[in-house]
Amino acid sequence: MALSEFEIIDCYFAHATAERDDVRVGIGDDAALVAVRAGHDLAVATDTLIAGVHFPAEATAEDIGYRALAVNLSDLAAMGAEPAWATLALTLPAADETWLNGFARGFAKLADRFGVQLIGGDTTRGPLSITVTVHGWVPAGTGLLRSGAKGGDAVLVSGTLGDASLALTLLQAGELDASTHRDFLSERFFRPPPRVALGEHLRGRAHSAIDISDGLVADLGHILERSLAGAVIEADRLPYSMAMRECTSPAQARQHALAGGDDYELCFTIPRQLEQEISLWGSTHDLRLTRIGYIVTEPGLRVVDAQGHEVSLESCGYAHF
Ligand SMILES: [Mg+2]
Repeated sequence: MALSEFEIIDCYFAHATAERDDVRVGIGDDAALVAVRAGHDLAVATDTLIAGVHFPAEATAEDIGYRALAVNLSDLAAMGAEPAWATLALTLPAADETWLNGFARGFAKLADRFGVQLIGGDTTRGPLSITVTVHGWVPAGTGLLRSGAKGGDAVLVSGTLGDASLALTLLQAGELDASTHRDFLSERFFRPPPRVALGEHLRGRAHSAIDISDGLVADLGHILERSLAGAVIEADRLPYSMAMRECTSPAQARQHALAGGDDYELCFTIPRQLEQEISLWGSTHDLRLTRIGYIVTEPGLRVVDAQGHEVSLESCGYAHF
């Protein structure tokens, strides 16, 4: 590489993100030193992105920088944690300065928005691979888990579902650029919004939560497994964007919403009596929150139509359930 490891971190990352009071030593020593917050649990999440697997060739360096941090912040949001610090392990085929500039810009933009400081990193040479670890806080014992869903809980999701999956489908067919919803859909796929404020609000309210990375059926399925419960999804309540309604048939929309991944919205369960308070919070924070079904005590996930008739998951394009 033309730039040494030290130069890459120093040039592009050392001062790229927020500076926090609780960081005693950041980038530049053998390890970072951070002040531990009394009475809190530390939440830690890590994710690796590999070129060609986790982002398509069309993604810009800035998109990749944003997304590498966003998917991790989404995991913290699902725990109800307030983000604090991040570390970055970057494997690069070459020290391409244009690429590094873009990557650092995308990463820093999102880090700044959530007050996250990059406190350490490592660079090596090889096929492009990016590992980010984020750290955050929850007051002791209040982290949101997958395991607390109870029979009778309402199942809610944030935002709209399936947009990232629709965007990827159009991108792969070479049709995204021609779409009137190109900007909206690109944003939904390349720049998913970590629902951090919602996660924090759900502490002490939600019985369970998860972020939707693999698709609603798969991720709600994780809640059900951990909670030893079942759920009924009312297909007609699934929240769709205008882009989804205008670009696809109702059957395809349902398939994107149930089986498509990468939305990074939150799926959570709450006692029914909190539904009004939570939806009020959503409207004051300009975030759509939709009840899509309910938890039942008998295991299994069922999807029903407006008449209450069961719709098979296979007919929704869900092959592996
Ligand atoms: Mg997750």
